[in-house]
Amino acid sequence: MFGIVIIAALVLAAPSGRAMADPTTGNSEAASIAAAMQRIQRSVDPCGESRQVVALLREFGRCPNATYKINADTRVTRNLFDRPQGASPRIITWNPELRSELESGCDGDPAKSVQRDPTASLLHEIAHAVQDCRGLNPGEHEAEAVRIENIYRRAVGLCQRSRYGEEILPLRVVKLQSSRGGRCWSPSTIVPDDAVAHDDSRPRPQQRATRSAVVDESSGDRPN
Ligand SMILES: [Zn+2]
Repeated sequence: MFGIVIIAALVLAAPSGRAMADPTTGNSEAASIAAAMQRIQRSVDPCGESRQVVALLREFGRCPNATYKINADTRVTRNLFDRPQGASPRIITWNPELRSELESGCDGDPAKSVQRDPTASLLHEIAHAVQDCRGLNPGEHEAEAVRIENIYRRAVGLCQRSRYGEEILPLRVVKLQSSRGGRCWSPSTIVPDDAVAHDDSRPRPQQRATRSAVVDESSGDRPN
């Protein structure tokens, strides 16, 4: 399966009446992308951050500065957001079947692992596209992409990511819940938030050496 789908198909977050003028609608790639977008949009984070995701989808579909496409390709072993210098549209390369391991350990259980989830992976790359739309270098904001991805992961009961490759991310990317329906907090805090400042003492992504500071770059769901 290989194909490119125009981003217009993804404006699911737009108000009603916004056309989905996608000439490829009906093919398997468009269908898998549309289904993933619906799962993202309908997901409900038990920690109450799903509105951030909906706002992100809206921003993604309305970026005034660039055009984005999603290339659904089951051959790739890593999801990517590419922004080649001077090129438009920018491309998300997304494997709708990729469920390989991202990191060992899951919610404190070393016997488990965090696996890629195709829908979560698509949201991760969309977060990078929005970063690009905002004029940021996505390669410098992996922690934020993982934080957004984790909102969806919580909503569907998946293990949350705490790393990008071998790099341990700031603890604020993860939120724990005391019990079903209970309050949430980042693992660095002792009591449930929202009145408690999260421990941000770990290096912020902006302070790290950038993996790719040039304009012509790719930002993936993990390092090569
Ligand atoms: Zn990434």
